[in-house]
Amino acid sequence: MHAVGIVAAAGSGLRLGAELPKALVTLDGRPLVVWAVESLRAGGVAEVVVAVPAPQRAAFVAVLPADVHVVVGGDTRTASVRAALAAAREHADAVLVHDAARPLTPPAVVARVLDALAAGARAVVPVLPVVDTTVVVDAEGVVTADVPRSPLRRVQTPQGFDRATLVEAYGRAHGAAAEFTDDASVVRAAGIPVHTVAGDERAAKITVAHDLALAELQVAQGVA
Ligand code: C5P
Repeated sequence: MHAVGIVAAAGSGLRLGAELPKALVTLDGRPLVVWAVESLRAGGVAEVVVAVPAPQRAAFVAVLPADVHVVVGGDTRTASVRAALAAAREHADAVLVHDAARPLTPPAVVARVLDALAAGARAVVPVLPVVDTTVVVDAEGVVTADVPRSPLRRVQTPQGFDRATLVEAYGRAHGAAAEFTDDASVVRAAGIPVHTVAGDERAAKITVAHDLALAELQVAQGVA
């Protein structure tokens, strides 16, 4: 199976409070986007396309390995993935879409996703259980309902797809309100079942400064 990796790295990362796009912020001296590319490759992905913000294109090209294909992303994650998907070669059977903001994703997670695709799944996502009590609140922040947590899962990346399935789903998702927070939702909106494999806490997304500090600790202590 020939898999192409797409790394969505075109976000601004405002919540991290850095001057740079989040994907260029460094962890142990290396930009997050470089960690993400390396974990895809270590897990068995042959070639990688990275979607980057237009103003910083040159800065991304300067830090990424020379054989990575860099494309300019869009205003939303959906638009960025769409741009990268258009650049992914047609000879690929599978596409793995990964967030640049998940630098410490173990290669074993990538391999589990690839294995599920090889076994015939058309869409597969790594997931983790929800450990906290989970509730619904109203506009005033008052709890209105408890949510049974046993069937709930937190969805991580990389998310893997049969390439033709993902291209078709993105084709159908054009139009008003067609913005999604991940790719599996695009595929599910097209009526395709999405399978799950075990995720990993180390694949956590870096969103706020605390997450980056935690990731630095993990690298320093060798638990990454
Ligand atoms: O904002 P959030 O953390 O959910 O973004 C998830 C990933 O999507 C990040 O790696 C970010 O760089 C990417 N993204 C993108 N294009 C956008 C917005 C986000 O590639 N316009």
